[in-house]
Amino acid sequence: MDEIDKSSAEFMNARKEMERLTAESLKKYSIKPNVMFGKLSDLIKSAGPTEGVIKWARQNSLWPMQFGLACCAMELMDFGAARIDAERKGYLLFRPSPRQCDVMIIAGWVTKAMVPEIKRLYEQMSEPKHVIAFGECATCGGPWWESYNIIKGIDQVLPVDVYVAGCPPRPENLFQALMKLQDKMGGKIED
Ligand code: SF4
Repeated sequence: MDEIDKSSAEFMNARKEMERLTAESLKKYSIKPNVMFGKLSDLIKSAGPTEGVIKWARQNSLWPMQFGLACCAMELMDFGAARIDAERKGYLLFRPSPRQCDVMIIAGWVTKAMVPEIKRLYEQMSEPKHVIAFGECATCGGPWWESYNIIKGIDQVLPVDVYVAGCPPRPENLFQALMKLQDKMGGKIED
């Protein structure tokens, strides 16, 4: 191989190497679809533009009610803190008024005396609204199963969308429950 052929081969090799490195780098650092782009793709796939936009907006701006009944509410407080950073998924601030909320998280046991108050709050929430039974007490009465004054689960009085097991469940479980609720609202999982 003469000198010119040798330098041309080296040039081609260097070029191939450069192309390989560029392709690898693009693969490695390509922009992964984040929450926003992921949801936009859902929006595009949805039935009608208006319906899709409304559904997408609702799914990604859940407003939980600032409301806790017993020890599980401590986990709710942790959920609202910076460690979980729930807003990154569209679970916005806990709201003090039921009129500004569309998610009721039942965190704690429900006494019979509290039932009318909880029902009233639920009725004051804006439509469409959702309920999460957070923890054993909210799901089935928990340790108070045989108590004379605690109901055996909030589903005896309100329609529940997602149940969360645990006594108490962790804040991460609530995060997962809200993701499940989003999937349900988006039609990805059945009732
Ligand atoms: S499930 Fe456990 S932690 Fe939660 S309210 Fe009931 S007893 Fe308390």
